[in-house]
Amino acid sequence: MSANRRDHGSIFRAMLQEFDAAARILNLEPGIWKILTHPKRQVTVSCPVQMDNGEIEVFTGYRVQYNITLGPGKGGIRYHPDVSLDEVTALAAWMTWKCAVAHIPFGGAKGGVICDPSSMSRRELEALTRRYIAEIIDLIGPEKDVPAPDVNTNEQIMAWVMDTYSMHVGHTSTAIVTGKPLELGGSLGRHEATGRGVMIVARESAKHVGFDINGATVAVQGCGNVGSISAKLLAQIGAKIVAVTDWNGGVYNAAGLDLPKLIDYVNDQREQRSVKGFAGAEPLTNEQLFTLDVDVLIPAALENQITMDNAPAIRAKVVIEGANGPTTPDAHQHLHQRGVFVVPDILANSAGVTASYFEWVQDRYGYFWTEKDVNERLEMKMCEAFNAVLQTSLKYHVDMRMAAYIVAIDRVATVTRMRGMYA
Ligand code: NAD
Repeated sequence: MSANRRDHGSIFRAMLQEFDAAARILNLEPGIWKILTHPKRQVTVSCPVQMDNGEIEVFTGYRVQYNITLGPGKGGIRYHPDVSLDEVTALAAWMTWKCAVAHIPFGGAKGGVICDPSSMSRRELEALTRRYIAEIIDLIGPEKDVPAPDVNTNEQIMAWVMDTYSMHVGHTSTAIVTGKPLELGGSLGRHEATGRGVMIVARESAKHVGFDINGATVAVQGCGNVGSISAKLLAQIGAKIVAVTDWNGGVYNAAGLDLPKLIDYVNDQREQRSVKGFAGAEPLTNEQLFTLDVDVLIPAALENQITMDNAPAIRAKVVIEGANGPTTPDAHQHLHQRGVFVVPDILANSAGVTASYFEWVQDRYGYFWTEKDVNERLEMKMCEAFNAVLQTSLKYHVDMRMAAYIVAIDRVATVTRMRGMYA
């Protein structure tokens, strides 16, 4: 390992620690180890935008292609004041491992622009998006690098990405970006995909650990896209969702919450949506959620929610990481030692990127699947990924997080070795 790869910021270092531990178990040769711990490309661009007040602002943007050995880069575009090159690099690396675990033919990439979208008008956001895409235009393409939404970016922004790229190449190119509106070549089933994947992984985990998901009790943190849909789909297969919390508090009902009603209650609120105040349930705090005597706990809100402050109180048999990075490394170690079965984010929420892959396939085909087709294929891919990680965890006597890294690194390393060294 070269010394300078240690110079990245702490998020990237955290990724490397997980990588190194898995690479040691795999007995990865030093050359491949070096390749897989260096980002392939990191591009920084300046994006001048004329603001509504007539002044010119210059925004800094990044696109990192961490590893594109398995296929085109895949990864979202984040708009946030705290975006940094280190963070974008780490997220691009995690996308590399997530795509490899999901067994889809994509490498890992990520983009970001340092900006505060909450203080920008729609026109300013459109101008920024178009200029950022124009600045990275040579880097992206359906066979090169395919962006998607991430924090503070949405379907509308993806539509502008698609239009800007299409204008540059002179023809309509839908496969340049995923997470588009349906009318522009988006995929049915994508909106529900991540939550559906979390449900599938929870169901398969219950089978492995030895309890029936039908009748099992579930607590969910977060009632946004991932939390609400995984809860709704788990309720549909007979699980009892006893608790849901969000930014503003939570609700508890030992007999099981009525999920469709709860989701309607949240969606009916115009701003600052929350489950708080839902009738027919007792109030519950986020702190209390983690101490409940449930079979399954699903953190599906933010990073660093399960820490050594609350992990000792967790009584769930299974933790499914719907969110990215919800468990700190020491808390994860603690849970594993206590025999809690933790399914890591790069497996548990990988159905989102798998559905993006389906969208890209349909766009390239120019032939669109029914929602049933998408869901059936998602079921197959998620079960395949879960079983590959589970078998690896049993083979190497490691936890599911380490096993997911081993599966991912082994797949990228194998293709790297087969392709050999150019020049
Ligand atoms: P979202 O914005 O739709 O929902 C987030 C939820 O978290 C909301 O219910 C919000 O109230 C809640 N929340 C915010 N702050 C909180 C706090 N302090 N305490 C408790 N709850 C809080 O987001 P989402 O799309 O559901 O994403 C959730 C997580 O899943 C994120 O980590 C995201 O990166 C990850 N993820 C999402 C997808 C996807 O397809 N949406 C895919 C992969 C990973």
